Amino acid sequence: MDAKQYVSELFERVVKRNANEKEFHQAVQEVLESLVPVLEKHPEYIDLGIAERIVEPERQIIFRVPWMDDNGKVHVNRGFRVQFNSAIGPYKGGIRFHPSVYVGIIKFLGFEQIFKNSLTGLPIGGGKGGSDFDPKGKSDAEVMRFCQSFMSELYRHIGQDVDVPAGDIGVGGREIGFMYGQYKRLKNAYEAGVLTGKGLTYGGSLGRTEATGFGLVYFVDEMIKAKGMSFEGKTVVISGSGNVAIYATKKVQQLGGKVVALSDSNGYIYDKDGVKLDTVKRLKEVERKRISEYVKEYPTAEYHEGCANIWTIPCDVALPCATQNEINEESARILVKNGVKAVGEGANMPSTLEATKVFIESGVLFAPAKAANAGGVATSALEMSQNSMRLHWTFEEVDAKLKDIMVNIYKNASEAAEKYGHKDNLVVGANIAGFIKVAEAMKAQGLV
Ligand code: NDP
Repeated sequence: MDAKQYVSELFERVVKRNANEKEFHQAVQEVLESLVPVLEKHPEYIDLGIAERIVEPERQIIFRVPWMDDNGKVHVNRGFRVQFNSAIGPYKGGIRFHPSVYVGIIKFLGFEQIFKNSLTGLPIGGGKGGSDFDPKGKSDAEVMRFCQSFMSELYRHIGQDVDVPAGDIGVGGREIGFMYGQYKRLKNAYEAGVLTGKGLTYGGSLGRTEATGFGLVYFVDEMIKAKGMSFEGKTVVISGSGNVAIYATKKVQQLGGKVVALSDSNGYIYDKDGVKLDTVKRLKEVERKRISEYVKEYPTAEYHEGCANIWTIPCDVALPCATQNEINEESARILVKNGVKAVGEGANMPSTLEATKVFIESGVLFAPAKAANAGGVATSALEMSQNSMRLHWTFEEVDAKLKDIMVNIYKNASEAAEKYGHKDNLVVGANIAGFIKVAEAMKAQGLV
């Protein structure tokens, strides 16, 4: 069968079978379209139903999460874990706590995770989980009760050789700690490798906190270096002010770039002199306040309500690090008009399909999420290795391994793009390079 027609019929079936899951459709569409040249070259992948199997999760778990707030009121949230593909290793992927979470979000994230994890070169399969719980405004005690309730169901589906969750939006060190404590209590065993992103006192890895943001900047640095550029003296706009955004900012500043804007879900700050990262870290990580507070300390900086206009700030490099679909076609066109040279996706799927097209067609260097933000999960896999070996690597050792991994991902994605006739298109290159390893493993393991 003609590969194009096969892909288009398969996509139609995915939409029909997973109705109302628009983020999942978007992620599948992008991957399937880029696989056409691979399926043309490897018709056996069509005969073996590799693509048909890869778009169907191996297992999806949906469960009730009841918990009580500080006033004794009962709340019921919904928990999810989607175990997407275990061809190359145990399921691995974060847990997201955000009110927007539903099965379509978890499935798009789990699907992307298959290819991202494959790209790292490490033996990890794809999965993702979460809940529509909103940790914002909750006390530590409420967050703890929620995490314990969530883990009281999840624990029976995960394990250090089965499925290894980590953090994501709304799940940081505090939440991982509470979940690990409950897992350990229920299992009566110290299986440190069951969760990653743990604290340093109980099995965490140095460098994991920084890994996604640092890895993103290592990747983008490699991509722009190939075209004779560097971060030195560049103006950079970064969205978000969470884990990924904060450590991307730190690395850009270390490499001589100037980060002039950051945001949260309410609005963004613009500091033409360069944002003061220590202040942002204190406001967001310690005091858990809104980014708007920044301008009270630096009155020459500006605060603007709403997120979309952050992309109207002229910059050389844009790093979306907040959430999915935060750059639409219009924002992409404005960025291009204002002379953006490179875009690196720190968040998962932050650009719509139309925005991605604008960047690629305009010749903007574009680093897609599944390659550019893979440093987090790669370092999680390094945390698992250290847990298995019962030893600790230094920050410098972990950071050097992270850098190597990001450089290799760039190399593999750009070589795959060139080999399959899409030179410099890292979207296609990352999808193809990530897919082939999983496809070969699935081929070897038979029809399962
Ligand atoms: P955090 O929860 O630490 O931070 C998220 C940031 O984005 C916050 O500033 C938050 O604002 C903002 N944000 C969240 N949702 C929205 C929204 N709907 N609209 C506007 N802003 C929003 O999460 P992370 O930094 O860990 O994750 C950010 C992105 O990076 C996600 O797409 C995640 O999937 C991806 N990622 C994370 C990895 C990791 O290791 N942490 C690994 C790979 C990818 P507010 O404070 O107001 O909530």
